Amino acid sequence: MKQNLIPEQRVMEEVKKAIAEGIDIDPARIKPESSLMKDLGAESLDFLDINYRLEQTFGIKMARRSVIDHIEELFGEESAIDSEGKLTGKAAEVLAIRYDGSGDQIRPGMDMDELPVMVTVTSIAEGVANLLDTLPGNCVNCRAQNWKLEEETRITCGSCGEPAAFTSGDDLIEDWLKQTQENKKIF
Ligand SMILES: [Zn+2]
Repeated sequence: MKQNLIPEQRVMEEVKKAIAEGIDIDPARIKPESSLMKDLGAESLDFLDINYRLEQTFGIKMARRSVIDHIEELFGEESAIDSEGKLTGKAAEVLAIRYDGSGDQIRPGMDMDELPVMVTVTSIAEGVANLLDTLPGNCVNCRAQNWKLEEETRITCGSCGEPAAFTSGDDLIEDWLKQTQENKKIF
């Protein structure tokens, strides 16, 4: 369900903080539209660090694998990236749906090395918000419907104290891909 305990603004602030600490840069440089790799100089390992910080902050589990990895897992090898390392037309279609507004940079045949460049501060914040919105109606431990906010970022059961159990990032991508395939029959 859509959670309303943590405002969007707070999510964005925490994402900026995690990025500043993860890459070790001045937070003032970070804008919502900044590409982590292109504008902020992030390297692959920094993403792991940033994800870890966000997991600790919100009690969520960020995706370990990309949408591309999940497409190949569900729809077969070379369904997303062809033998020459280029994005397939079908995968481009899926990514355009997923990254709606920023999708105009996505085109079939683009090199897979270009894909991480498209990760922006906003896209990470949206990813975190989507995970927080998997908040179940009831606590899985005591069934109470009594969510409380602790330390401004942790949603916890007000009855038994158990932290909220969110869907993991990888499960959420997989569910979304299956749903999209059912609706659009891309693969
Ligand atoms: Zn509970």
